[in-house]
Amino acid sequence: MHPVPLSEIERAIRNVPDFPKPGIQFKDITPVLADGRLFGAVIDGLLEGVPPGSVDKVVGIDARGFIFAAAAAVRLGVGFVPVRKKGKLPWTTHEQSYDLEYGSATVAVHVDAVAAGERVLLLDDLLATGGTASAALALLEKLGARIIGANFVIELDFLEGRKRLGTHPVRSLVHY
Ligand code: AMP
Repeated sequence: MHPVPLSEIERAIRNVPDFPKPGIQFKDITPVLADGRLFGAVIDGLLEGVPPGSVDKVVGIDARGFIFAAAAAVRLGVGFVPVRKKGKLPWTTHEQSYDLEYGSATVAVHVDAVAAGERVLLLDDLLATGGTASAALALLEKLGARIIGANFVIELDFLEGRKRLGTHPVRSLVHY
């Protein structure tokens, strides 16, 4: 299969103005997911520079992050861990609150989702203010995980979210 240019992925991302609130331009990745070639290329892109055997768990953030993290975990042959919105996970959890680009929220992870010392890769669809990802990283640090990096399909550069992710390697495929 020929490599897919990033510009093609970028063109497939749909901009929805004023969703879910006035002033927010929502980046809709469903057209990317609906195209098997583009979806596969995004997974390839998210795993670029992540050699097989270098990761023990792929962690995805509720909800669109699950889609990419689950596919990436299967591709790497490793487990998938969900970081979910508070109140959704059935077992004992750690919780972390954070501010969103719109509103505020709390995320949670099962206390036994990652063993101390395991190497984890965090994936999400979009890095905006960085609140969600930094909360997820804080949860993973609480579990004693070794964070290999945090990779995103889309990054809104003007919000400078990566500044909140400390020294962890951060990579995004498409920048706005
Ligand atoms: P933040 O915590 O501000 O970095 O926001 C990141 C989270 O909110 C991600 O899980 C995204 O799915 C979602 N999000 C924030 N802003 C947008 C946007 N403009 N378009 C789509 N999703 C967004």
